Amino acid sequence: MEFEPVIGLEVHVQLNTRSKIFCGCSTTYKAEPNSQTCPVCLGLPGVLPVLNEEALRKAIMAGLALNATVAEYSKFDRKNYFYPDLPKAYQISQYDRPICSGGFVEVTTSTGTKKIGITRLHLEEDAGKSIHSDEPGNRVSYLNFNRTGVPLAEIVSEPDIRSAEEAYEYLQNLKTIIKYLDVSDCNMEEGSLRCDVNISLREKGVDKFGEKVEVKNLNSFKAVKTAIEYEMRRQAEILEDGGGIIQETRLWDADRGLSFSMRSKEEAHDYRYFPDPDLPPIKPDPAYIARIRESIPELPDSRKERFVAEYGLSPYDAGVLTSARPLAEYFESTVKNGAIPKKASNWIQSELLARIDTPENIGSFVVTPAMLAGLLGLIENNTISGKIAKSVFEEMTETGADPETIVREKGLTQVTDTTAIDSIIDRVIADNPESVADFKSGKERALKFLMGQAMKESKGKANPQIVNELLLKKLK
Ligand SMILES: [Zn+2]
Repeated sequence: MEFEPVIGLEVHVQLNTRSKIFCGCSTTYKAEPNSQTCPVCLGLPGVLPVLNEEALRKAIMAGLALNATVAEYSKFDRKNYFYPDLPKAYQISQYDRPICSGGFVEVTTSTGTKKIGITRLHLEEDAGKSIHSDEPGNRVSYLNFNRTGVPLAEIVSEPDIRSAEEAYEYLQNLKTIIKYLDVSDCNMEEGSLRCDVNISLREKGVDKFGEKVEVKNLNSFKAVKTAIEYEMRRQAEILEDGGGIIQETRLWDADRGLSFSMRSKEEAHDYRYFPDPDLPPIKPDPAYIARIRESIPELPDSRKERFVAEYGLSPYDAGVLTSARPLAEYFESTVKNGAIPKKASNWIQSELLARIDTPENIGSFVVTPAMLAGLLGLIENNTISGKIAKSVFEEMTETGADPETIVREKGLTQVTDTTAIDSIIDRVIADNPESVADFKSGKERALKFLMGQAMKESKGKANPQIVNELLLKKLK
């Protein structure tokens, strides 16, 4: 039998507001446990939650950027379940009236470009964190409520994904867009982006979906990919043996590379959803939505197209440079400072990206766009060679000095004076009679060697083009 996976993703994005969604507590990460709590987020009796307008604005902005529609009428509901790190015994979420619905994210994979539908984006509060100690004699559980009430946007995709590769691309694009908007830092290690996978298999050519399994605890995009591949194999084996898939929630174990059953999947009615009586419905004014729409920055896809059209970059280069907003801004600023776009693109990709841990941090890199443009200008006007430029760049990253200053102080200016180069070449020819003879008998490689010797002799400062011309003239 040949099977096809049907995959949908649920992504939780922590919105980067300064305070929590229904109270004024700070959302700073890694604060002293339970130092960022108040009666509202601890769920004490008699308190009244109040919606943080910034969380609403950021959720709407994300929805608009994902091509979704903002609801004219939306409301909050209580999702009831008991869990030690959920002090109210219910989570404030949105059930049948999410703030946004019906969008899409475009993905390009080896099989082409397609749109992955987005069913909905809703607002909800996060739960706290339980920490279990297994130390002998100290088997206790700790509860930290600092995260309780932090705003989340849950983005649910349609079951449109048909491979692990598509799932990976979808997540990658979604993350890039969210980061461009600056509505979340999407840091998976700190839990500000979490992803659950819903996956079922069906026989190829069959329309009906199979029983689905939810996989949780995926803490990297790579884990999502591996878990999907694992589930596809596991479910195919069961189906081939004539067995049935049980609808359940499974946990992913990244160390062992397998998933295991956690609990049978709960249905919506298990949560006894009902409208939260403490929070008024949201009816956003069209003018308010229009203002948010206007504040959306240029998004990665259109920026990539513009880089191709405006700067003549290849789609590949434009894709790399627009993969993070700070990187795209660094590149454009280098060009505005006078660098040739193609040269700036090459230099950033080959020399600069290797020296920073993530393109997100390029804004604080010691070499500013103006300094890089200055360095590229020195190559362009033949003051230094490309090779010398690499060592100048190295020094710029270490000392933060200007390229012009380094070149002047170290006497690195390129030698273009033909008499000086002439004498170097004479020496190289005199010292390497064998190579000269090789060249004369037609061995082209000998020229490369002699050229290298001459450049070495000049300590890399001779203009390579002039060396090449003079060398050929003398040899012939
Ligand atoms: Zn609070």
